[in-house]
Amino acid sequence: MAKLTVTVNKGRCIASGDCVELAPGVFRLDADEKSEVYNPSGAADNVIVAAARACPAKAITVIDAESGAQLFPIKK
Ligand code: SF4
Repeated sequence: MAKLTVTVNKGRCIASGDCVELAPGVFRLDADEKSEVYNPSGAADNVIVAAARACPAKAITVIDAESGAQLFPIKK
């Protein structure tokens, strides 16, 4: 399991809760109902990437902390 850097752009988050539903060990909603990352290693890498992909606001970025490669969103 790679070490991931997972970030949420709270300005984009619309509090849909998809990420919390898919990876409750990683994401939670804060007092303002915005998603926050409380444990970036709280789920398997593919689950975290799937949660980022599921975000309707494209607010989640996932980076492989070791290689620096951005896993989501995919850079074109
Ligand atoms: S899936 Fe996206 S919009 Fe929904 S709560 Fe998570 S970060 Fe916010």
